[in-house]
Amino acid sequence: MPELPEVEQGARVLSMAAVGRTITAVHVLHPAYARALPAADAAHLLGRTVTDVTRRGKHQIATLDDGAVLEVHFRMTGQWHIGQTSDAPVPFARLLVDLTDDTRVVLADPRALGSARLHRTGALALPPLGPEPLTTEFTPQTLAASLAHRRGAIKPALLDQRVVAGLGNIYAAEALWLARISPRAYAASLSPLRLSRLVRAIRTVLRRSPAARYGSQGSGATVWRVYDREGRPCRRCRSRVRRFLQSGRSTYYCPTCQRGP
Ligand SMILES: [Zn+2]
Repeated sequence: MPELPEVEQGARVLSMAAVGRTITAVHVLHPAYARALPAADAAHLLGRTVTDVTRRGKHQIATLDDGAVLEVHFRMTGQWHIGQTSDAPVPFARLLVDLTDDTRVVLADPRALGSARLHRTGALALPPLGPEPLTTEFTPQTLAASLAHRRGAIKPALLDQRVVAGLGNIYAAEALWLARISPRAYAASLSPLRLSRLVRAIRTVLRRSPAARYGSQGSGATVWRVYDREGRPCRRCRSRVRRFLQSGRSTYYCPTCQRGP
């Protein structure tokens, strides 16, 4: 599932393909995508030039020359394919955007849970988002403040985009393992020392991610520290990695070296 590093990579891919080019055709190929981008909004894109692509949390934000914004969210399985209008169809293509010089930007999304939405000039309204974890806005103090009044465990808290923007199920598990904190630890009672370790661990796992390191989409050579390793030895202490369901999501952790509250 795309999280901050993969979405950042997606924004770069889109930027390289689209910035400075003008949209010549838009095809919406799935009903869910058509609900988010109805025909009138798709038509609004025609003739517009893409001036900038940025990322905020897991949102990709393509700005057009009239100030409107196309906001894309990959959700579970979204991914860009960049090619030419003459290329063979891309499997699970949900949105095609053709650009001057015959570049074709395809949003492929097998589960079709992603979206692309038009926000008219000045109307970009993202859901509330916490600080970007790779900036100086994100510190042990800001994390402590956003967890102070929270009930429940740290792992679901890290998935809340209002606590920190861009984390998801994989990097939350990886960061907690690196910081030696149990996913069940009570979020509001983590000590300042453990919060400092957690902030450092979040930055480390995001920077080490395959998308951040290799500059390509996809993660064929991924080696996670704890994620998806149920029953296999912990890479630190050799105990067996366990999995349990937490707020409906699979959580992987080492019961020996990740401590609770
Ligand atoms: Zn361990």
